[in-house]
Amino acid sequence: MSRSRLVVLAGPTAVGKGSVAAAVRAAHPEVWISVSATTRPPRPGEENGVHYWFVSDEEFDRMVAEDDLLEWAVVHKAARYGTPRQPVELALASGHPAMLEIDLQGARQVRETMADALFVFLKPPSWDELVRRLVGRGTETEEERERRLVTARDELAAEPEFDVTIVNHEIHAAAEELVALMVQSPTDREA
Ligand code: 5GP
Repeated sequence: MSRSRLVVLAGPTAVGKGSVAAAVRAAHPEVWISVSATTRPPRPGEENGVHYWFVSDEEFDRMVAEDDLLEWAVVHKAARYGTPRQPVELALASGHPAMLEIDLQGARQVRETMADALFVFLKPPSWDELVRRLVGRGTETEEERERRLVTARDELAAEPEFDVTIVNHEIHAAAEELVALMVQSPTDREA
């Protein structure tokens, strides 16, 4: 089997990156999705090793020091998140379609080290819809929401840095668009 190409999914906060990744996971078990390490505590229903590796600050420091992370970033000034490097290497070497769902800072770092990855920007149908989704999910405090909206404005401006944009009108449709990109050959994509 030949080495596969990495797909990096990024986009502003609350656009639905996590939901799109979950839809890919449910409908396409053949797609390998990276499990990030994070220093934030689990939310209800989140499982260690499935949604994230929930680690202490000390453990995260160790991963950084030992260069175990392909990229990492402080997201929303709240917690650190990073992609364990070795599982990504193994997935690519085994030829499976492989995907990271990370923030913009992380995507920029991956571009430095894996320039041949496909960078996909997930975009909300509109700014109002993004605000509605952030308020609707109800997982953040008012202060946290305000902070995320400020970040989201900057993140939206980064769209031209990406190879492809998918508009998240509906989660399952966006997930299928994403998977279609993974199975396309580079020649099809350029056509
Ligand atoms: P949440 O805490 O809501 O699960 O995720 C917050 C943000 O962290 C999301 O924008 C998500 O894409 C980002 N994120 C999750 N894992 C990683 C990672 O491994 N690296 C980076 N840079 N960002 C991540």
